Amino acid sequence: MQEFAELIRDVPDFPRPGVMFRDVSPLLADADGFARCIDALAAPWRSSDVQLVGGVEARGFIFGAALAQRLGVGFVPLRKPGKLPPPVRSVAYQLEYGEDRLEIREGVLRPAQRVLLVDDVLATGGTLGAAAELIERAGATLVGAGVVIELTALGGRVRWAERGPLHSLLRY
Ligand code: AMP
Ligand code: MG
Repeated sequence: MQEFAELIRDVPDFPRPGVMFRDVSPLLADADGFARCIDALAAPWRSSDVQLVGGVEARGFIFGAALAQRLGVGFVPLRKPGKLPPPVRSVAYQLEYGEDRLEIREGVLRPAQRVLLVDDVLATGGTLGAAAELIERAGATLVGAGVVIELTALGGRVRWAERGPLHSLLRY
């Protein structure tokens, strides 16, 4: 899967000093690379009976929507606070400084519906954990999660723990 690595741009000290930002824009702009990326994201789930893909705003929308199409299922956006009209279900999670929230439209998931989560980057795992909580609290079934990039030193996989299979295409 290292074939995608050359399409990721590493930007030091963005958005804050000390952070190495993994910019997926070159990957998205490369027709063949993007298509192969979506193929690779889809591959582990071909026989998992995924019924819906949940993508985390904003880059998770891009990969998630393409993946949903590839798997032949629908897509549900998990949004930053204040974007969705009511009724919404909301989950707060810790950031390095302060907290943030993720929201889903109330009633968009059917009970026991099998949902696959997608985001671009797994870092500390706070975002994906909040997304998982939204799915579970709605009574749907979390199939697992797929990310393009996993930053292994930040321990997101440990935080994800027993929530289901977690597949990443690139690990740094
Ligand atoms: P976390 O909640 O710490 O796992 O952070 C994951 C979220 O933050 C993802 O939605 C990413 O879009 C974003 N993110 C965190 N770290 C980076 C990074 N180094 N480069 C690009 N995006 C990142
Ligand atoms: Mg993000």
